[in-house]
This record gives sequence, C-alpha cells and structure tokens, in this order.
Amino acid sequence: MSRKDRDTHEANKLSKRLHRQVGEAIGDFKMIEDGDKVMVCLSGGKDSYALLDILLNLQKRAPIAFELVAVNLDQKQPGFPEEVLPTYLKSVGVPFHIEEQDTYSIVKKLIPEGKTTCSLCSRLRRGILYRVAGELGATKIALGHHRDDIVTTLMLNMFHGGTMKGMPPKLVSDDGKNTVIRPLAYVAEEDLAAWAEHRGFPIIPCNLCGSQENLQRAAIKAMLQGWEKQQPGRLDNMLRAMAHVVPSHLMDRKLFPFETIQPTGSAFAGGDIAFDEDEGCGTPPPLPTLEEGGKVIRLNPATV
Ligand code: SF4
Repeated sequence: MSRKDRDTHEANKLSKRLHRQVGEAIGDFKMIEDGDKVMVCLSGGKDSYALLDILLNLQKRAPIAFELVAVNLDQKQPGFPEEVLPTYLKSVGVPFHIEEQDTYSIVKKLIPEGKTTCSLCSRLRRGILYRVAGELGATKIALGHHRDDIVTTLMLNMFHGGTMKGMPPKLVSDDGKNTVIRPLAYVAEEDLAAWAEHRGFPIIPCNLCGSQENLQRAAIKAMLQGWEKQQPGRLDNMLRAMAHVVPSHLMDRKLFPFETIQPTGSAFAGGDIAFDEDEGCGTPPPLPTLEEGGKVIRLNPATV
C-alpha cells in the first residue's frame, strides 16, 4: 500500500469513528430532536471547527430535520483575524452570525495585571451567547467540549472542588433558558487534532488575549495524558465510569439512604464484599468452592 493510500485509509477510519461517536452521543442523550435549531459556538479552535464540520455531515444523513447556525463571538482581542471565520463559513455554506462585543477591554479594565482573566471572560461570553441564542431562536446551544475536557473537569473538581462533578453532555443552562449540548462528549482530543489537520481548518490561535491557560487544568490534563500513555484506554474507562455510577458504593447520603438500610436476609449482587478488594472489573470473583464427597460446595463469604 502506498503512503497516500495508507493516509486515505487512516483518514476514512478516523472519519467513521468521529461520526459514529458523535451520532452515538447525540442519540444516547437525545441531544438533537426533529425541528431543532442548533446554535454551534465557534471559537476558531480545532474542536469547534470539527464540531461544526461533523454536525454538517450528520445533518445531511440524519433521519430527522434540524437547522444549524454557527455563531462566533468576536471579543475584540488584539490581532483577531476578523475575516477568517466568515470566509470559512461562507465556503461551507452554513448560516452564521458574528457577534461583536468588546469583552477584552472590559476584562482588562476590571482584572489587575498578572491575574488570570479567564473566569470573568468566560462569564461574559456565556451571558452573550445565551442572549444571542434567544435572538436567533436557537433551541440548542452546541459546545465543542470533548472527552478529555469532561474527564479533566471531573478530576479538577475532585482535586480542588471536593465534588464528583464533570461536564454534562446535555444540561439546561444556568439561566434556565437554554439547553446546552456537547456532541463531542465521546471523542478523544487527539482525534479532533488529527481531523483538524486532515480537513485543513483555518485555526485561529487561542492565546490572543495574552492570558495563560488555567494552570491547575493544564496540570491535570498533563497528568491524564501521562496515564493514558502508560495505559492506553484509561481515559475512555474514566468516561465510561461517569456513566456507571454506583451510589451505594460512594458516600453521598443524598443519593443513597445509608441511615435507613437494613439487611433483608437475602443475598444480592450489589452488596458489600467486606474485606475483599474490588478488582475493578465490575464483577466480583466467583466464591471459592470445596469438594466434599464428590459434591461441590460453594463457601459462604461470611465464613471464609
Ligand atoms: S484564554 Fe483569553 S479568551 Fe479564553 S477565556 Fe481566558 S481570557 Fe478569555
């Protein structure tokens, strides 16, 4: 196989995987329904370009009818290349809206030099995007967060926030007026980077504001990438774990009535396995057996 054929083969595999994963996430969480108008938030980074690209492809094949409108917030950062996104969006033929709001000046005025500006900046951006969604009549707001963002957020909240809280694939916004969806929830960041390169998206650098990436988030991301390198598949497993929560084996008294539970006298699979260590396979190992007089006796876990 020539190098060109190999590259085409790899790109086809990647394309199939990405479209399958996005289709599955949309279906699993009922993210898009017939008649929806989906506002796709486009920053000019690889993730949001890939999100729009994949949704445009799925729109052509979907058994339901939905509209897409791409929205970019031009925050008036110095050096922002204003023409890049409109030129791209016209070339792919998607309706779009560029919202111009000088949040850059507001943030610079309010946050002292050297302090991180991201939290105010993103709060302002969120409010503007919610308003724009209402003005455009959008029924869903699609964001380009992916698997790695979701797992990183979970760890960040565990390490620094004392909560087991990730980033939901679908949730009503904090103003109660919009439904926010994350169709890339199952997609690995490295696949998005490869797709962006393959498709040649005109990426706009994300450091125009001069702010540094949140250092704690960057540290956790690096840690997760290190784990993934040592043991490929770990990030997928962590994501899967977020969809298989066992409240009785955690400690949230709001999710499980620890105070009032009583033994029923009957065995059940989800019960405590006392001193045995859970091997992480999800299924406890079979109970040990003894052979006595030709009969196999399964030992009582309470007595071994
Ligand atoms: S990196 Fe810059 S543009 Fe992005 S949220 Fe932070 S301050 Fe805002």
